[in-house]
Amino acid sequence: MEVGVIRAVVCGAAGRMGGRIIALMKEAGDFELAGAVERPGHPALGKDAGEAAGVGKAGVPITAVLGQVAMDGQVGFDFTAPEAAIANIGKAAEAGLAMVVGTTGMKPEALDRARELGRRIPLLIAPNMSVGVNVMYTLLAQAAAKLGDDYDVEICEIHHHFKADAPSGTAAKMAQVIAGALGRDLERVGVYGRKGMVGERKPQEIGVHALRGGDIAGEHTVIFAGMGERIEIVHRAHSRDNFARGALRAARWLVGRPPGVYDMGDVLGLK
Ligand code: NAD
Repeated sequence: MEVGVIRAVVCGAAGRMGGRIIALMKEAGDFELAGAVERPGHPALGKDAGEAAGVGKAGVPITAVLGQVAMDGQVGFDFTAPEAAIANIGKAAEAGLAMVVGTTGMKPEALDRARELGRRIPLLIAPNMSVGVNVMYTLLAQAAAKLGDDYDVEICEIHHHFKADAPSGTAAKMAQVIAGALGRDLERVGVYGRKGMVGERKPQEIGVHALRGGDIAGEHTVIFAGMGERIEIVHRAHSRDNFARGALRAARWLVGRPPGVYDMGDVLGLK
């Protein structure tokens, strides 16, 4: 869809992802920064959003309230924290601002509330905006369906030591996709870490394990282990830029869509 220059508002503007989105928007050339929002009390409030992102003056000061700037934008990005994200989606719905939400760790009730708000605005929620990871979901569903119950499934993710939630939203989604393909209820078969005399592994288990360290942008390995062989499907993010580029691609796709809740599968035509 041809939409020309897109006016965008970035929530979490002084964060790691917010900063890269502002930087890559400038590089892309088809976005204009219409607003930059940070949490009340953040030391970056009042500073120029482009300078805070290390890409020179943008002429947009970082403010503390989305409501005021939402009216100036066509799309908002939210890479903040779970409670902030749901509050920001609410403010976007009031202002009629389409939203691309990458924040992970939202509770099921918050996601239900977000889906309700998605009746009023185009709302894209994706715990992982990387094109590769979203293609991997499709590969995992195919592999699980073909391999069936004879292969044990274990998921291992590793991220930087700043990450607050575990397992990653991406690992959780991978587990969900695999459970769906195998006709299992993840609530019953998901095993999150193991310690002590846990006994023999049950065939239906889907193991999910979270490692944390250093500045690792994100890796997900899914192991399908059978008797005498195993398949490992691995995704490695080299930097945060692949998530930020995916978010920009999502925003280009989202602007002008009817209200509704979308994900990266819609953007990439994987459904
Ligand atoms: P970060 O801590 O570097 O940045 C978050 C920023 O949001 C901080 O600057 C914080 O002050 C700000 N913030 C908090 N409350 C706010 C509010 N009410 N309004 C505006 N800003 C507020 O974290 P990060 O590494 O940038 O990650 C942010 C979120 O995005 C996390 O949930 C992370 O898991 C998720 N993430 C998602 C993807 C994806 O592809 N979907 C990729 C990377 C990170």
